[in-house]
Amino acid sequence: MKRKFIDSKNFYNCCSLWVVLFWVGLTSGLIHSDDSLKVCLFWNRFPQKIQIAPIDAPLTVNGKTFHPGDKIDLSTGQKFIAHSIEKFSVGDGKTERMVFGRIFGIVGEHIYAKIPVEKWILLTLLGESPSDTPFEALCACSVVLRSFALSGHHHKNCDVCDRTHCAQIPKPQPIPIKYIDAVKSTENIVLTYDGKIIPATITANCGGHTLSGQSVWGNKCEWSVGILDTFCRPLYWNFSAPLEKLNNILPLPVSQWQFLGDSTIYVGITMARFAFWDTLVQTLGWGTLKSPTFTMKIDNDSVKFSGIGFGHRVGLCQDGAKSMAEKGLSMSQILKYYFPSAKISI
Ligand SMILES: [Zn+2]
Ligand SMILES: [Zn+2]
Repeated sequence: MKRKFIDSKNFYNCCSLWVVLFWVGLTSGLIHSDDSLKVCLFWNRFPQKIQIAPIDAPLTVNGKTFHPGDKIDLSTGQKFIAHSIEKFSVGDGKTERMVFGRIFGIVGEHIYAKIPVEKWILLTLLGESPSDTPFEALCACSVVLRSFALSGHHHKNCDVCDRTHCAQIPKPQPIPIKYIDAVKSTENIVLTYDGKIIPATITANCGGHTLSGQSVWGNKCEWSVGILDTFCRPLYWNFSAPLEKLNNILPLPVSQWQFLGDSTIYVGITMARFAFWDTLVQTLGWGTLKSPTFTMKIDNDSVKFSGIGFGHRVGLCQDGAKSMAEKGLSMSQILKYYFPSAKISI
């Protein structure tokens, strides 16, 4: 009787195939669950129309392919999914965003993007860092953004939003090579505390002293301590707003608001500094009250604000990091300066 042997070459090919299929399955699983961020686009707004456009590669919208130069208009109620292998734009008539990966949702309702983490870091590094930022400071910011992205969900329905609340997704524009290099050269580097990746943050100007996360957000963040920043030039600002514009946005009128120490305010309810600032800024507009630390004075029909710093003042100070890099200090030295309790981990 002739025995049937398994051909060793076929056996090897068969095993290889399963190894490849297993690997593809494993990595594709990771790409969808861990390596992409779900981003809320047009956060807190529900645009009634959307325009999507390919930039430098074809774009697929609901199964149909479009090419650079084409524009795809979608209106209220339309369900869509769009993706490209390269960057593309999405706008609502007021703002435009440059994205990678895929976007999906229903126009007039929630719209999301699924962006690979390293591409999200590249986009937000461009959205948050001015073009004159030196390379080592860009590298430090990349590590901070990566840590923020990988530390957990920052919103109920998504990982991050597309605004400065988390990190700004920019409008379509060319991406300078130094931004690409900064993200690539810091790949896999994150900040940790007690073995966990921390939600590290950047702020445009710390006012000469960064604040602890607890004093701004009200919740415990042991990794986040305030430090004296001798590298930045503190930014002082003033802003004046009509009293009637502010009188109805919180349970009590402005004359009855009471600051309770540095970190909280009583306005009919007790609010942390950041939540209070965010509420005022949503009414007055971004850039009006530049930071959550300010004093207020009612002057006839207006409220005069005087403050220090630009941004929430927690974590890496961009003005300070720029000055450190210009003085020849490295990415690690910048990160250790602003995050003295954290560990730089690979
Ligand atoms: Zn956010
Ligand atoms: Zn500073």
